[in-house]
Amino acid sequence: MSQATSKTIKCKAAVSWGVAEALKVEEIQVDPPKASEVRIKMLCASLCHTDILCCNGIPFPLVPRIPGHEGVGMVESVGEGVTEVKGGDIVIPTYIGECGLCDNCQSGKSNLCHTYPLKVDGLMPDGTSRMSTSDGTRIYHHFTCSTLSEYIVIDANYIVKFDPRIPLHHASFMSCGYSTGFGSTWREVHVHKGSSVAVIGIGAVGLGVKTQSTSLPI
Ligand SMILES: [Zn+2]
Ligand SMILES: [Zn+2]
Repeated sequence: MSQATSKTIKCKAAVSWGVAEALKVEEIQVDPPKASEVRIKMLCASLCHTDILCCNGIPFPLVPRIPGHEGVGMVESVGEGVTEVKGGDIVIPTYIGECGLCDNCQSGKSNLCHTYPLKVDGLMPDGTSRMSTSDGTRIYHHFTCSTLSEYIVIDANYIVKFDPRIPLHHASFMSCGYSTGFGSTWREVHVHKGSSVAVIGIGAVGLGVKTQSTSLPI
């Protein structure tokens, strides 16, 4: 299970075929992971507003594409050289990697990694896609994720191993919304105990702010 497999998987995914068009659930093909990549069976996914923006052509139209960058899944197989995770591990896919070595990763002030950045071209780091329609048409990834597919392939530098005891429907939000609210309060705004703050909206981002605010050290 932890070894790379040569088999392409057929599964269902929600595909965007045009700007502002409804997603179409259809069968797609997901290639096996190449070196340094991981194929994940998605267990839970959630929708971020950025998915909707991208499906509406922002920053530019890119179709066909499978949206989704929040989710949690189980490692199905790994490509050559991947040692950080193995089959059966619970992981969350992310859209910004972390090399730990570049200026930003070393700065302690930013996680905008230069080596594994946010990708908006819809392709894997090697410039290709691992997803296609049943007739072989290439499908673009969404950032590095495309979590609205039953299976995804992602570079191992863009995943985080996760404690499987955390409920999956909570874990899914950790990929973007919740961690955005939590991190911005903790790392950027530096809200102090006793501060009065207004949280506008209690979606995934707002709930992350609230949790952080109520867990400030005494
Ligand atoms: Zn998001
Ligand atoms: Zn880096």
